[in-house]
Amino acid sequence: MMYKLALVYFDGTTAGPGEHVTRDPRYDILFEPMKIGPVTAKNRFYQVPHCTGSGWERPRTLAGLREVKAEGGWGVVNTEYCSVHPACDDTPYPTASLWDQGDIKSHALMTEKVHAHGALAGVELCLGGARMPNLGTREVAMGVVSMPNLAGNPFQTRAMDKADIREARRWHRNAALRAKEAGFDIAYVYATHGYLLSNFLSATLNTRTDEYGGSLENRVRLVREIIEDTKEAVGDTMAVACRFSAETNGGYGGDGNPVPGETEDMFGVLGELPDLWDINISDYSLEMGLSRFVQEGSLEPYVSYIKSITSKPVVSVGRFTSPDTMASQIKRGIVDFIGAARPSIADPFLPTKIEEGRLEDIRECIGCNICYMGDGKGVPIRCTQNPTMSEEWRRGWHPEHIDKKVTDSRILVVGAGPAGLEAAHALGKRGYEVMLAEATRELGGRVSHESKLPGLSEWVRVRDYRLQQIEKMDNVEVFRESDMSAEQVLEIGADHIAIATGSHWRRDGFGSNNPGGITDLGAPDKLYTPDDIMAGKVPIGPTVIFDDDHYYMGTVLAELVRKTGVSVTLVTPEDTVSSWGLFTYDRWRAQTKLMELGIDLITARNISTFDGNSATLECQYTGQKGTIEVEALVLVTARTPNDGLYQELTDKIAGGAKGSPKSLKRIGDCEAPAIIAAAVYSGHRYARELDVEIDRDNPLKHDRVFFEDG
Ligand code: ADP
Ligand code: SF4
Repeated sequence: MMYKLALVYFDGTTAGPGEHVTRDPRYDILFEPMKIGPVTAKNRFYQVPHCTGSGWERPRTLAGLREVKAEGGWGVVNTEYCSVHPACDDTPYPTASLWDQGDIKSHALMTEKVHAHGALAGVELCLGGARMPNLGTREVAMGVVSMPNLAGNPFQTRAMDKADIREARRWHRNAALRAKEAGFDIAYVYATHGYLLSNFLSATLNTRTDEYGGSLENRVRLVREIIEDTKEAVGDTMAVACRFSAETNGGYGGDGNPVPGETEDMFGVLGELPDLWDINISDYSLEMGLSRFVQEGSLEPYVSYIKSITSKPVVSVGRFTSPDTMASQIKRGIVDFIGAARPSIADPFLPTKIEEGRLEDIRECIGCNICYMGDGKGVPIRCTQNPTMSEEWRRGWHPEHIDKKVTDSRILVVGAGPAGLEAAHALGKRGYEVMLAEATRELGGRVSHESKLPGLSEWVRVRDYRLQQIEKMDNVEVFRESDMSAEQVLEIGADHIAIATGSHWRRDGFGSNNPGGITDLGAPDKLYTPDDIMAGKVPIGPTVIFDDDHYYMGTVLAELVRKTGVSVTLVTPEDTVSSWGLFTYDRWRAQTKLMELGIDLITARNISTFDGNSATLECQYTGQKGTIEVEALVLVTARTPNDGLYQELTDKIAGGAKGSPKSLKRIGDCEAPAIIAAAVYSGHRYARELDVEIDRDNPLKHDRVFFEDG
């Protein structure tokens, strides 16, 4: 969504930059306090539990990250999934933990900061079951039955006997007591997403013959007992929330519509027990769907009936960034709280901005799921839209505030892609005089180009947010159609110069599986790069997309070319299509889509020759060669930095050229081609660090866990 720059007051007058308007009464409902059992949330903005990639290893990072959400107005701020015992260990995926006193101390850092801003702190207690292989702790995982690990590890669970069930209840209860000591206001019972309790609920998995298996009443028994245990242990001061699937043992019907499964019957037993229902669905690829495949508010068909089967408050998610959609969800009785993970990551201050009527300042999530990558890779969560995520504590970055300039320097930024736009935006916020020069008429660089590809339209928000902000600043001037030469750059005589000229896709096949390039590439007029296709030059005959990039570009281009009517084969040297898309959840839906479009998929094959009529494919394992007949080859392999201008300037400055700046830096893809999030981060970091003394040996604070007695 794009908002007009001038804000319209409700009396019809307009507000200029920097002036605040008050909240639109249509959104008042979002700011009503809501009771959750013994506690009260100050409003309906509810940050649901979400992975952070930091878990128990980086407590200060987490406290900083959660604090800005509370400061930004979220009424409830939750942890990620929190292991209750070493026998629930998801290593290498980072989880929180509440195993001992040290963990209490770590969490207290967060709860204190969350409370300081008037928000409630919640903890998502988790029993692992067949989804957690305990690779780190080497405890034997326990399951409803002895079954394979659901994350693909060759470790089966031990079928829980009655003593194990008693133990699991004790672990959960003790963790709840520790949560209370840590200062939490809400304790979760986590009964979905394939973890232990959901395995007990499942009619498919739970084949036990004792009182915990078989009938629906038996299958919900453990969840019921644990809700009751938790209430008994901490329910006097803490609310007990239950995270549950709207389609337990349901799914999709033949018509593609949601099937509620047994949830309604289970609510007959459980419906009034917890103080709050946090409702999602089992399919992550829909629940936290990419904007490429899933629209805002897509869980509504699943969730809408839940309020009719319980009197307790309900929260659910839907990548909500529009206050109109949020208010509508509540007014129509779909949910009581607006749940958010990604929108709260992209903009921790989303509630405050709605409250203050600053809708044009909202940094809307683009639905790319780069944030989710932190969990899969075990690294602190990052966000394409919000470069400060996870940097709040270790670099002292705040999502809304930035230190004012310390000199009166004039800065020239060359290139208005995500790196240049973010640099100009953040430098402008610091108060510098900024000139942003862009070669073309259109601003946005790769974001503008890529957002025109199938499914990626929301990515344009990366550009639009920054342009909206820049247009409000008198101290930032934008020069379009200004293809800068080194001489022109120096003529300007800026004090500092940032080169953000991006990169272009290679035409020689150079890539991780062909580090010397593909030597036998003929028919140059039948070779295409992603840049060609984005510029409108699309293959016209049978096409091979060679994907040695492994993220989204290969599959997106395959879709685009196929939709022009030509036959398409996607070839990748990896064993799966979009292998890196595993970390963002691109992979499954992308492959499904390609198969539905009739695109042939060939994995574990490299390309060694192409002559305009055929290509030679080589098996990655045996080296066996085969030929396919194709008339066009699209190389999605690697990119070359557009750093010619930077190199030329470096030489001229070394030679003492007139107009030399105090500093010259390349940023974004011009420095090192990477994901859009890295370009935004690079531009932001440049702006933060300009004129600031950084200790190069110790550029960021090192987070670490507490010693138990320390
Ligand atoms: P990044 O992801 O690092 O921001 P992009 O490739 O998205 O990089 O953007 C680079 C931008 O720089 C493009 O819009 C391109 O037109 C612009 N550009 C490249 N060379 C010049 C130049 N010499 N002068 C001005 N703009 C340039
Ligand atoms: Fe949204 Fe992408 Fe940021 Fe995640 S990384 S919060 S999906 S913009």
